Amino acid sequence: MSKLDRFIHRPTGCAPRATMLLIFAFVAALVLLDGHSAALPLVVAQDAKQPPSKQPPSEKPPKKPSKKTDGGKKGELPQFEILPVDPPKTPGKPGDKPTKPKGNDKGDLKPTKPEKPAKGAFKPLPDDPNLPEGTCPMCLGATFVPHAKRLPYVHVEGDRAPAIAMVVPWQFCPQCQSDRDPQELIDLEKARLANAGVTHLEWEKRMGMPLVRVETRHNTLHCQMSPDVARRQGEAVEAAIAYIQSKTRSCFLTPTRPSTHEFVYLWDKETYLKSIEICRNVEEFRRGEDWHLYPKLACFNGTTTTVANAAEGKSAPPEHLVVSQTALWNITKATNGHAKDWLDVGFAYHTEYAVKNKVLIEYVRYQLNDTRLGPNWASEARKMAGENKLVRWNDLLDSDLVAWNPPHHVTAFATVSFLMQDPVRFAKFTVLIRDGVSAQEALPKIYGRPLDQLEALCGKWILSSG
Ligand SMILES: [Zn+2]
Repeated sequence: MSKLDRFIHRPTGCAPRATMLLIFAFVAALVLLDGHSAALPLVVAQDAKQPPSKQPPSEKPPKKPSKKTDGGKKGELPQFEILPVDPPKTPGKPGDKPTKPKGNDKGDLKPTKPEKPAKGAFKPLPDDPNLPEGTCPMCLGATFVPHAKRLPYVHVEGDRAPAIAMVVPWQFCPQCQSDRDPQELIDLEKARLANAGVTHLEWEKRMGMPLVRVETRHNTLHCQMSPDVARRQGEAVEAAIAYIQSKTRSCFLTPTRPSTHEFVYLWDKETYLKSIEICRNVEEFRRGEDWHLYPKLACFNGTTTTVANAAEGKSAPPEHLVVSQTALWNITKATNGHAKDWLDVGFAYHTEYAVKNKVLIEYVRYQLNDTRLGPNWASEARKMAGENKLVRWNDLLDSDLVAWNPPHHVTAFATVSFLMQDPVRFAKFTVLIRDGVSAQEALPKIYGRPLDQLEALCGKWILSSG
C-alpha cells in the first residue's frame, strides 16, 4: 500500500477555518513533481492586504523590490563563517558578498549582444575531489553559468518583442564549454520562441477565457490577472532565480525553462474549481490521485504545470506562492527528485524568506495540519532553538512531510538557511544528492566536518542570528 493510499481516505480537516481572525486560514496545494513528492503548500492568511474583489485589481506599477534579498531584516540571519578551510580562489569565494540581484527594470528589454566569454580574465577552477569524477567545478556539470550581468527578463504579452539576447537564460561555461559559440544560445531561443505561444493558446482554450501570458527565462505564466499584477508574478520568478544564481554562482539549481515549467495562475476560487474539472482530462495531470483534495488546496501540479488559485490575493500576496514554487520546482528538477522533504521544502521556505522576508507558504502532505507560525521564521527558529524544540537532524533528514509538526518545518527552513550561508557548497551538496548520495554522507563530505559538529554549528548559528 502506498503512502498515498494510507492517507487518501483520511479526513483532511481542511474545511475553511471559520476563524479567519486567527492567523491561519489556509488552503493548500498539492505538489507532484515527477511523481516523487506530494507536498501541499498552505497559504497563511495573515498578510492579506489586497481588498476582497471578484476581479483582479488594476494595480499601480509595482514598487521597487526590497534591496534586502538575503535573509530578512538586517542582523537576523548574519553571515557566519562556518568553515576554517581555504576558499576557492576564483571566481569569488563563498564568503564574498553575493552579487546583488538587479532590481525591477519593468519593461526594460533593451537589446544586449550575445555575451562574450571573458577569456582574458577567466581562470579555471581546480577539480573538486568531493564532486563526482569529471564534474566541472565551475558549472557543476550544468554546462552553463549565470550571466555576468543579469537583468531581469519579464515579458508580458503586449510588450514589444524582446531582443533575443535578453531571453537567453545563461552563458556557456567558460571552463568546460569554451569552444561553444554564444550565438548557439541565441539560435536556440529563436527556435523556442517560434512556438512559445502554443501552450498559452491551449490554456486559454481549455479555460475558455483570455489569460495574460508572462514569460520569464525560467517559466511561463498564464494569469487570470490584470497585466500589472501578472507582471509582478513574473518579477517574483526572476527575483527567486536571481537570488539562487547569484548566491550559488551557478545555474545548477535553476534548470527550469519556459517550456518545462508552466504556471497557470487563476484569480478566484470559482475559476480554480473549474480548472480542476478541466485538468482531469489533460494528459499531464492523469497521475494525480488526490482530486478530491484539490479544491481545498492552493495549487496542484502536473508534470510541467502548476495550476494555482490566487484566492483573490486574500490569503497571501500572490507572489509568495510563485517564489516558493519556483524554488521547489527548481531544486526538485536539479536533484532529479532525489532530495528529501527537508531539503525540497526547506529550500522553498528559505528562498521565500530570502526574497520576500516572510514565509507565508507552508507545505503539508496528504493531510492538513494546524501549524501556527508567524511569518518571521528566523525568529521562530531562534525561539525554538532557545527552548530546545528544534528537531534533531537524525530525525529530520529522512523524515516524511506527512508526519511533520511545526518544529520540523522551522528546522528544515533553518537548516537550509544555515547551509546556504555557504551557497557554493550548498550547490555542490545538491549535486551529490542528485546522484543518490544521502545527506548524511554528502554533508560531511562537502562541508568538511562530521555531521554532529555541523549540526552543533547550525544550532549555534540559529541562536546567534538575532
Ligand atoms: Zn563547466
